[in-house]
Amino acid sequence: MKSLRVFVTRRIFPEAVDLLSAVAQVEVWPDDEPPTPAQLLEKAEGVHGLLTNVMDRVDGGLLDAATELKAISQLSVGLDNVDLVAATRSGLPVSNTPGVLAKSTADLGFGLLLDAARLISRGDRWVRAGHWQLAHHPMHWLGSEVHGATLGILGMGQIGLEMAKRGMGFDMKVIYHSRTRKPELDAEYGMEYVERDMLLSSADFVCLHLPLTAQTRHYIGETELRAMKPTAVLVNMARGPVVDSKALYTALNEGWIQAAGLDVTDPEPIPVDDPLLTLDNLIISPHIGSASLDTRRATCLMAARDLVAGLQGEPMEHCVNPEVYQA
Ligand code: NAP
Repeated sequence: MKSLRVFVTRRIFPEAVDLLSAVAQVEVWPDDEPPTPAQLLEKAEGVHGLLTNVMDRVDGGLLDAATELKAISQLSVGLDNVDLVAATRSGLPVSNTPGVLAKSTADLGFGLLLDAARLISRGDRWVRAGHWQLAHHPMHWLGSEVHGATLGILGMGQIGLEMAKRGMGFDMKVIYHSRTRKPELDAEYGMEYVERDMLLSSADFVCLHLPLTAQTRHYIGETELRAMKPTAVLVNMARGPVVDSKALYTALNEGWIQAAGLDVTDPEPIPVDDPLLTLDNLIISPHIGSASLDTRRATCLMAARDLVAGLQGEPMEHCVNPEVYQA
């Protein structure tokens, strides 16, 4: 019997469970409904490794209770659900899954952009509702041009770059704003770094690819939405709270901007009576940016490999708080 114990908070690909089972006794939460915070706390007590998901709250209380923990591996790139300060204080290495899901997330983001610009979902709803009575009219269903438009990316990391490449493939001009300017990307791809205000006022498509942090909560609120073009489209592939939902509702309802595509909402899931769902100029996908079969499998394997390393006392390849290894 192996002495190490692991708790995995959702069902994952069997190949990933096999990797973990080679070194530890593994318990996988079997239900589609996630463990409640109390259930997660109970499961975390006594285990040596946790493989967590974006919706799990990994806070100081849980870390204090999980006295045997050697490592946490998170099945996502965003870590806004994990109290990293507390984990680092406890000397616990935490890993995430960067890069592996960047292309599939950008694919979905570009899908939302195209859909919002060219009214695909809106047309689909209209057809299914039986409104397609007139075969074709030259003045109906006029969407926005994608080619030749300006794509503005906020957060030029791995997903932002993939989004930029997709924009270039569609003959778009790409501008970006990020915490750090990237002269090497400017030179390689011909992108232009601009200040945030400039991006908001000049982009035809504003796409969010930032982590959710104290600095980026409501990064897009009333002021920013009012600064955008009335013809602009907002795409949020980051986290719901990066956008102020109430301000977004008013902006879409009153025409400050033309449309929005959201893969993430605040809260998740979005309640069916949320006013945003009454709007025709909004498309929502249910947080499925990285949800393609191959990407999910690769992401699960990456997370499992990191946890195996952490359990064995080796550096986790994608550790986000490597300072714990110096301590
Ligand atoms: P990443 O490579 O770390 O890129 C994030 C970028 O945002 C970095 O370039 C970063 O800074 C920039 N940034 C951070 N704070 C900022 C601030 N206050 N102002 C301006 N820029 C800031 O991460 P990624 O893989 O691209 O993922 C980005 C986010 O997407 C994740 O954190 C996650 O929340 C979200 N995500 C969503 C899905 C989905 O299914 N919808 C899937 C994966 C990820 P620098 O400019 O200093 O580099």
